[in-house]
This record gives sequence, structure tokens and C-alpha cells, in this order.
Amino acid sequence: MPTKYIFYTGGVVSSVGKGVTAAATGRLLKERGFNVAVQKLDPYINVDPGTMSPYQHGEVFVLDDGAETDLDLGHYERFIDVRLSKVCNMTTGQVYAEVIGKERRGDFLGGTIQVIPHITNEIKRRITQVAKATSAEIVLVEVGGTVGDIESLPFLESLRQLRGDLGRENTLFIHVTWLPYIGATGELKTKPTQHSVAELRSIGINPDMVVARSDYPVDRAIIDKLALFCDVDKRAVVPMVTSKNLYAVPLMLEEKGIAEYILEKFGLEARKKPDWTEWKRLVAQVDKPRPSVRIALVGKYVELHDAYMSVRESLHHAALNLGVNVEIDWIHSTDLERGKMLDVVQKADGILVPGGFGSRGIEGKILAARTARTGKIPYLGLCLGMQLMVVEFARHTLGDETANSTEFDRTTPHPVIDLMPDQHEITDMGGTMRLGLYPCDLQPGTLTVAAYQQNQVQERHRHRFEFNNAYRESLAAAGLRISGLSPDGRLVEIVELADHPFMVGTQFHPEFLSRPNRPHPLFKAFVQAACDQAGIKTHPFEANGVKEKANNK
Ligand code: GLN
Repeated sequence: MPTKYIFYTGGVVSSVGKGVTAAATGRLLKERGFNVAVQKLDPYINVDPGTMSPYQHGEVFVLDDGAETDLDLGHYERFIDVRLSKVCNMTTGQVYAEVIGKERRGDFLGGTIQVIPHITNEIKRRITQVAKATSAEIVLVEVGGTVGDIESLPFLESLRQLRGDLGRENTLFIHVTWLPYIGATGELKTKPTQHSVAELRSIGINPDMVVARSDYPVDRAIIDKLALFCDVDKRAVVPMVTSKNLYAVPLMLEEKGIAEYILEKFGLEARKKPDWTEWKRLVAQVDKPRPSVRIALVGKYVELHDAYMSVRESLHHAALNLGVNVEIDWIHSTDLERGKMLDVVQKADGILVPGGFGSRGIEGKILAARTARTGKIPYLGLCLGMQLMVVEFARHTLGDETANSTEFDRTTPHPVIDLMPDQHEITDMGGTMRLGLYPCDLQPGTLTVAAYQQNQVQERHRHRFEFNNAYRESLAAAGLRISGLSPDGRLVEIVELADHPFMVGTQFHPEFLSRPNRPHPLFKAFVQAACDQAGIKTHPFEANGVKEKANNK
């Protein structure tokens, strides 16, 4: 079968759930037996979000192959349960870099390089290569931004051309918009959607389907009106009412028959009946009252929760699986430095220090690790959170508060965390960290191996600094267990404290591999330890949704 393409555009305003819509429809199609992949097109000129501040962009999501990508790829992977590749995130910066590189080599033989056809051809090449790189039969392509933005025009023009190149029967446009609610008259308004569809039409794209996000129920009259003005079938107007529970979205879209409509348009038949048993159970679990466990998340971008998207999701996956609810106390590490919020951290059932860069708030995070160690509060340190756990432990055992990572103090007498040897010659900041999937051998008899129940794991990385092996012996003698090592034994990947209920730090980012129905083992063990701390009984359920066993600890 020729590869089918679904293009998602956004109208009216951004942040209406285009990414989640794409992810959820991806799941609906996978449930019907199709291989799907999702590609995000980002209109900015950065080559990737790896060098962007989380304030600008939220979390950087890392893939197996080390690509640093948009956080929407995290939604796609979690909803569809796929592993994506670097071809699944394209930015304007990548497109121009490629075309300009060719121009400098003389590949265009004296031609004038223009947006159409040179930039659009490169965009089309990158879209059509997804199917080859991932063996997807249906490729879902999400265009970042909102129709009407100047910067996304070349992307939209490329999609318009692709419809001609690939054929109408192989392409489908879904426009995701927003219905504002006017409180005074109690009405939902369709006019902005009509305008954004008109705008899309003016560049030659007629959407096949309109997904209209709304905070209020959408009645028949509104649907009919949208169908009429946007020139789509009534069946192809899909209201998407805001849901407290993100994971309810695929079920909501399933109920609206969106997958049937898509397959019909493509002339395809479902290969299997979707099985939502497990997913429904998960959603029901979210809505059930569950005992709450409090986790203090100590970071430096906490006012922007998107900066820790996968960490937050991983905590929720673990909690759902254990039949409890996680309440996150978002703690700004600089507040801890100013003597504020320490009581909240001390009272938490678990403390999590996520990844990060740069020196702001570092001492606050170290204080969080100290609070966890001395108060025997379960602790999970991710990347920087692991490095600072080591710094804190070294300061304690060496009795010397100058121990540090050379990222924050180049001249520290005790550089317990230091730049990786192969990083010394690097001058470019973009895409040059130790990135992507690497194996890690787990050491017997550790909390870590008990959590994973495996001897070797593969996890995603993103760092330049590492545990300094010169301190391995002395810190191990003082009670820091090295529980995960690179297979050559050179790189410390996981540490844990011997004399502590659960204090674990990982050099990698386990949060990128957690799934709603398959929580990451370390997150699960951490939340379980936090529940034990709080005296909360957990009820873990098996992923197959059949067996349920109570944990009587
Ligand atoms: N800044 C640290 C490093 O580069 C930690 C990175 C991270 O937390 N992702 O090693």
C-alpha cells in the first residue's frame, strides 16, 4: 500500500492540543493494526531545541538515536507506544542548513536558490523519508504554530504540493482549532475557526476534517455550522471537549468515529478490532479517588511545568500503576537557597531532583539531596540530580563543602563530577553532548537491580559531565553504591546510598522511556518507597489488566 499521510495544522490560537490530537489519532490507527510514525515540523530557525532555554521551549525530549527534539515527540511516544527517530522532528533551521550546505558545495550548478522550489523540495524530501526510516504505513505530520504565521508558510506550501505529488487518496488534512466561549451570552463562537479555515484555503489547502477544541460541550447546531462554513462533512467535524485527564483523549476521539472516517478516506479497512481494555482501565484509574503521596520536585524552571513534562508524566504513570495519586510540590531550588520552602521538602514523602544545566539554584538542589539523605526521605536524582547527590555525599564524607562538579566550580579541590574526556575538545554547543541510548550493567544486590529485575538496561542520555572515577573507591567505602556501570566499567551510570531506604541517582533520563501502561521501574520503585514512607498501601496492577495484587508492605 502507498504510504498515507495525515497533516495536522493549527488554527485560531496555539496550545489547543494539536500534538495530543495527533498522538491520540496515531494510537487509534495503531489499535487498528497499522504501523504509524509521527513527525513534528517546527518553524523556528534553531537546528534543534537542544540549545534553547526550557523557558522558551519546555522540555527537550531525547530519542534513542540521540536526537534532541520537541516535547510533542514525548506525547507521541507515550500515546502510541512507539520509539521514534531523528527524522521525526524537522526544523526550519535544519532545512536551511541542508540547502545552504548544498549551495556552498556547488550542487545547484549556478542556479538561484529560492524558497520554492528548493526549500519546499527539501521539506518534502524530509517528510517522505519518515516512512523509509521508520517502516510506517501511515505518517502523521504535525505543523507547529498556527495558520497565518509567516514562518510556517513554506511548510504549508510543501504540504499543499505533497497532496498533488502523492494523490488525494493518500493525504488528509486535519485542522485543529479553538471555539471561544462568550460568558455573557453563554455561547461558543465558530467565527475564528471559519476565519482560520478561510486562511488555510487561501494558501490552497482545504481541510478534510476540523477538530474543534472547546472548554464547553459542543452542540449539534455548532457542528452543522462548522461543517457548512468550513466545507467539510458533518462527520468530519470533531468536537474535542477539554478533559482533565489527558489519557481520555484517544477514547473520546474513538467515540467520535474519527478513525473510521480517516480509514474510509484512505480506502483502508481496519486490520484488527481496537482493544481498549487496558487503556480504559487506566483512564478509570485516573478518575478513581486514590490516596495521595507528596513528591517535592526541586528544579529551576518549576514555574513552567512543561520544562519537566516527561518527569511529571512518569510520576503519574508510576502512581497510576500503584493505585495512588502523586501530588507534586514544585519547589524552586533558588527558594531553598534563600531559606524558603525547606519545610515542604522536609515533609515530602519523596524528593526528586531532575536534570538541568548552569549554576543557578545548584546549592538549593544540593540542600534537597542533603535533606533526603539526612531525613531518610526517598530520593530520585535524574542526571544533574544524580550528580548533585554525589556532590552532597562527597561534601558529607570528605567533610569538605568545596566538593563540586567542575560545571559549577572549575577549580574545586574535589571535582567529584567532571567533564567527560571526549568533551574537552568540543567548542560547538549544539548536539554535542553524550546523547541517546547506551547500555548499562546493573550490579547484583542493589535496590536498582531489584527495581529493574534485569541485569542490563538501555537508557537515554543527555550530559557532558560524569562521575569522576578518582573518587569511586573513597565514596564507595563511605557507603555510595555504584549500582549501574557502562559495560566497559568506565562510566558510573547509577548510584544509590547503602544506608537509606531509597536514594538513587541515574546519569541517564529514565523519564523518556516511561509509558502510561508500563511505568518506568525506577519511577515505580521511587513512588513505592515514597508510599512506604507515608504509610500508604499500594495496589499495583499488572500491565495485562488481569491480575491485581495488593502490596501489604
Ligand atoms: N549539566 C549536567 C551535564 O551536562 C547534567 C545534564 C542533565 O541534567 N541533563 O552533565
